[in-house]
Amino acid sequence: MANKQIERCFLCGRVKDEVNQLIKGKFGYICDSCINDAYSILNNEEEENITHNIQLATPRQIKNHLDQYVIGQDDAKMTLAVAVYNHYKRIRQNKKSDVEIQKSNILMIGSTGSGKTYLVQSLAKFLGVPFAIIDATTLTQAGYVGDDVENMLLTLYQNADYDSELAQKGIIYIDEIDKIGRKGENTSITRDVSGEGVQQALLKILEGTVSKVPLSGGRKHPQGETVSIDTSNILFICSGAFEGLEKIIEQRNNKGKSIGFNADIKSAHEASTLDISDVQQHDLVKYGLMPELIGRLSVITTLQPLSEDDLVKILVEPKNALTKQYQELLKMDGVELEFEESALHRIAELAIKKGIGARGLRSIIEKTMQKIFFSIPDIEDAKKVVITADVVDGKADAVIYGARNKKIA
Ligand code: ADP
Repeated sequence: MANKQIERCFLCGRVKDEVNQLIKGKFGYICDSCINDAYSILNNEEEENITHNIQLATPRQIKNHLDQYVIGQDDAKMTLAVAVYNHYKRIRQNKKSDVEIQKSNILMIGSTGSGKTYLVQSLAKFLGVPFAIIDATTLTQAGYVGDDVENMLLTLYQNADYDSELAQKGIIYIDEIDKIGRKGENTSITRDVSGEGVQQALLKILEGTVSKVPLSGGRKHPQGETVSIDTSNILFICSGAFEGLEKIIEQRNNKGKSIGFNADIKSAHEASTLDISDVQQHDLVKYGLMPELIGRLSVITTLQPLSEDDLVKILVEPKNALTKQYQELLKMDGVELEFEESALHRIAELAIKKGIGARGLRSIIEKTMQKIFFSIPDIEDAKKVVITADVVDGKADAVIYGARNKKIA
């Protein structure tokens, strides 16, 4: 009996039951869904083409992905996921619609080493969009020594492999935004003029403008080639630790409450442990950001300082957790690596003492492992290494086991 050829769309491969209609051509079939897709691509031309490449996952899918890498910070993950989803939906919006969806850039507030940069990095990687990290403190207003604000567009353009269409759909992460604030809302004599100048320069770029970016890297090559970058679809995520912000929030909360002898005065320690998730735009103005700049950062999210338990989780749980990386390295020498629970907590404790959040973990493990990495390749019968709390403290050497779990050092 001759095999009857299955009728399927030559583009997507779907069969008759999976589509509304299969249309027969001279050399095969095409389904109604592919015809519609092709039609909208032709209508929206390049715009649609570019965003088609960006993975438009749902907010839940985005958060689930972030969960694999970043511990805790659920609020920030959800806020980011929704904001990014809406941002790319806005880019895809049919140009013929009467409703213009405005851009919502994002502000992330959280202490150093709490995962701000890591969250955005993981997000950009997942979405497959170009990404650039900029330190706000290196920026200056035009005419001063330092990087012009436009230079961040050059970095993004380079990271997009010199594809300006793709760069225009990328993400720019501006760190240390809190460091370019004015020094106090009402003290004009002490105003940090250059900080305010940079904020001014950022306004336009955040809002959306077509910038001529010098390819040769700045004012030093005025005759150089330029590329036009339209920033209206670039998502800007600004971030900062905003140290002392909790005191401003506290003052606002206490305004109108008791003053004088009975006032509820908090100690410096109590103030620093206050919750910043209650932050309002007005607090940020008090901190020194221009109201116009805050107006362009309409989504605000806060990250919590990481606890000891969070840090222990960071050491073991994420896909590329630090302990997994070191285990992988020793595996190449045929040796298993084990961290005792107490050792993990000791590493976390030491990182907290350093006051730089998860950022401190790597250097502590690195120091702990140095001796082992040095000696293990020469110990032929070594099969397993165990790290205890005393090893982390430098009070003892790691325990080494040979075959049949026999302690050899
Ligand atoms: P910051 O908040 O100062 O931007 P980073 O995101 O740069 O901090 O964090 C520094 C490093 O610490 C990251 O590269 C990552 O390895 C680790 N890290 C920080 N926070 C987390 C977290 N919540 N989950 C997992 N790893 C984290």
